[in-house]
Amino acid sequence: MRTPFVAGNWKMNKSADAAVSFVREIASQLEAIDGIDIAVCPPFVALPGVAAALAGSRVGVGAQNMYYEESGAYTGEISPTMLQGLCRYVILGHSERRALFGETDDGVNKKILAALAHQLTPIVCVGESLAQNEAGETQSFVSGQVRAAFAGLSDWQAAVCVVAYEPIWAIGTGRSATSQQAEDIIRTSVRDVLTDLFGPDTAQAIRIQYGGSVTVDNIAEYMRQPDIDGALVGGASLKSSFVDLVRSAVV
Ligand code: PEP
Repeated sequence: MRTPFVAGNWKMNKSADAAVSFVREIASQLEAIDGIDIAVCPPFVALPGVAAALAGSRVGVGAQNMYYEESGAYTGEISPTMLQGLCRYVILGHSERRALFGETDDGVNKKILAALAHQLTPIVCVGESLAQNEAGETQSFVSGQVRAAFAGLSDWQAAVCVVAYEPIWAIGTGRSATSQQAEDIIRTSVRDVLTDLFGPDTAQAIRIQYGGSVTVDNIAEYMRQPDIDGALVGGASLKSSFVDLVRSAVV
């Protein structure tokens, strides 16, 4: 009932030209994969070129961040009005933004509301650190992040969002969560919390991705889990083998 969704987060990689060449190389192969939604999220400067290269394609484009104000004295920031019409998705609250750039739950919530007000689909990232995981705090921490991120959203706004559960200890480390670990947290700390906030119909409609060292070799295992609807992929989305990864996600 939920269409699977795999998105590539290119992070701070590829120049504008390299991004366009890469997307031209993989677009037609991605196009040919049915039964799944696909997106690539290049750096801001590559968004116009990548969006133009994918115009009319079913491969979507996303930004990696956004500020919540529409315009003004916010040096270095990009607003929702600048992204509206340029891309469909926006990754919000990625753990690298939270850890390295001081993003807070409150700021992430404001960004989600602003994105929705501008017809952008937020990919809302949540996930615990290694220390929190080892201290047995994963469920309470991730549940808290989900409640904070979705505060003040209506049912229909929540239904539009995508959530990416990304344990920080699994991002870029090659140490992925097992599919059962990911499923357990996604069910208990994301889907059940969304059910509590918005009711079962809305919670069942929301797509929840796993992220953290997803590769062509492990994606199918995650996709077999009932509450995992796709993946947010970092490193493995930078190579042309991303096509094989997406193909393997259709199980
Ligand atoms: C990410 O950046 O969201 C991510 C999951 O990275 P990686 O796939 O490289 O672990």
